[in-house]
Amino acid sequence: MARRKKIYEGKAKILYEGPEPGTLVQYFKDDATAFNAEKKATIEGKGVLNNRLSEFFMTGLNQIGVPTHFIRRLNMREQLVRACEIIPLEVIVRNYAAGSICKRLGLEEGMQLPRPIVEYCYKDDALGDPLVTEEHIAAFGWASQQDMDDIVSLALRVNDFMSGVMLAVGIRLVDFKIEFGRIYDGDFMRLIVADEISPDSCRLWDIKTGQKLDKDVFRRDLGDLTDAYSEVARRLGVLPKMPHGKPTLIN
Ligand code: UDP
Repeated sequence: MARRKKIYEGKAKILYEGPEPGTLVQYFKDDATAFNAEKKATIEGKGVLNNRLSEFFMTGLNQIGVPTHFIRRLNMREQLVRACEIIPLEVIVRNYAAGSICKRLGLEEGMQLPRPIVEYCYKDDALGDPLVTEEHIAAFGWASQQDMDDIVSLALRVNDFMSGVMLAVGIRLVDFKIEFGRIYDGDFMRLIVADEISPDSCRLWDIKTGQKLDKDVFRRDLGDLTDAYSEVARRLGVLPKMPHGKPTLIN
């Protein structure tokens, strides 16, 4: 069988050429990295869980009219997505203080923010994805003012959707990161949500116990990462159940 053409390999995913023009196959690896890839590990089952969870969130977003790159899941680790031109920004939405904003502004972890805060980081691993403002984004032409208006309103819709879905299963959406891409229909350009939405890119805390169910488990050595991600998947009904009631990573 001819080998597929690899388009791009990142820290947690690989993109291959898709079966039709304008499509790509997104493969979820088991690799986990943190602190700008200073900490690395292979965590069995993570890719399978993130493939399912990203499918779940992106399908829901498509259904409420937030366009995403997701077309359909192909198998345990792969999904078919629309090819797009990635905007070189990490768009972060925060509802509660955690992570870098605590250090930067001296906030106590877990404090509810007065309103959702949207931040942007320039995607550049060598620079450690620095925080940038709309001034930088406009001046360097990474996105236009119209793009930024669309990005903010889409990011806030994603936040409302994700917060509601997680609240319904007893989980607090503390913050998350999303990426946007451009697609072209003739002369017409549209922005879509791309990359992934998974516990790798969100902070998720159990509402009652405060237990962390996201990548902080790996960043801070708080336990088993697949157990945490499986718990999120189980609560959302995302993984098929085995007879003993535990979610299965097969299929
Ligand atoms: N995040 C991410 N990729 C990054 C940086 C951050 O997915 O390269 C996510 C992170 O998991 C969290 C949110 O964005 O849900 C905010 O992260 P923060 O700025 O607090 O950075 P961190 O503390 O992770 O360095």
